[in-house]
Amino acid sequence: MILKSHASLHWREQLKQAITQVDQLAERLTLDPQALAAQIHPQAQAGHFALKVPQAFVERMQPGRLDDPLLLQVLPLSAELETPEGYVPDPLQEQAFNPLPGLIHKYRSRVLLTITGACALHCRYCFRRHFPYSDNQPGGQQREAIVDYLQAHPEINEVILSGGDPLSSPDAHLARWMATLDAVPHIKRLRLHTRFPVAIPERIDDDLLAWVKSTRSQLVFVLHINHPQELDARLIERLQALRAAGVTLLNQSVLLKDINDSALVLAELSERLFDAGVLPYYLHLLDRVQGAAHFALSPTEIETLYQQLLSCLPGFLVPKLVREQPEQPSKTPLGWPFSTR
Ligand code: SF4
Repeated sequence: MILKSHASLHWREQLKQAITQVDQLAERLTLDPQALAAQIHPQAQAGHFALKVPQAFVERMQPGRLDDPLLLQVLPLSAELETPEGYVPDPLQEQAFNPLPGLIHKYRSRVLLTITGACALHCRYCFRRHFPYSDNQPGGQQREAIVDYLQAHPEINEVILSGGDPLSSPDAHLARWMATLDAVPHIKRLRLHTRFPVAIPERIDDDLLAWVKSTRSQLVFVLHINHPQELDARLIERLQALRAAGVTLLNQSVLLKDINDSALVLAELSERLFDAGVLPYYLHLLDRVQGAAHFALSPTEIETLYQQLLSCLPGFLVPKLVREQPEQPSKTPLGWPFSTR
């Protein structure tokens, strides 16, 4: 079956048409609706973190395959209802580093800003899947408070806009934030952590490129791509437009069971990223968030896989294997030999 492309639609229209119903997903992928429904949990189509996947992402899935690595990232499996010990709602304890609504100040020289709680798709392993976004979307007055905070902390030279996905916001809103942050003299870099262009490549359009080109700060986009199948020609073309606008492109992945837990898959991902002008940056161990335990690998599996990956790639294409720990002043790189326990 050839899936009809939505590439000609504006990204907002594509977002509106995102799939939220299991039946619809089954039809698009020529899957047996009953077989699909049998795998998912009862709240899969309701609540704040229900099934959500744009057609552009579905177009990269293999029809007829329940084990497709892109499908498995978005499918609310019944396994999410298991609650093994150590899997908690806020594994990084971010709410303890939240001095103002929308601002997380955990690392010395950089802060994280959440300007929206919305995402283009819902990744089932997301460590912020329980984050209280409704309390963390700064409005006008809070924007001033954030600027005051940044002015009072000259050691902060980088602001990271992160998930929810900052590119869910309208371009006018993003342009206002860029101008606000550009006005703080000691901010050198603005970094956007985004999966939106992966979900809907047409998010990189002329309106976005306009504010990208207008900022005085160095701009870095950290994409989130987990599997080479996510990188299609449509996405690569848009990434080239970003590069032409002067944006540095990095990628981070999460190591996920049955999705990218193979050195060959990860090596192919690094090669394809580099071909597209994107540097592999981090390979994250799964954060132990409630509902995501079925994506975890054992320490032995991780060690074996990373050792194989080191032998497959030149060093500059090997993403750093890291774990985030709430009490640490940075991400924790896992050296070699390392302990993943
Ligand atoms: S796009 Fe990012 S923030 Fe949003 S659900 Fe996926 S991993 Fe989480």
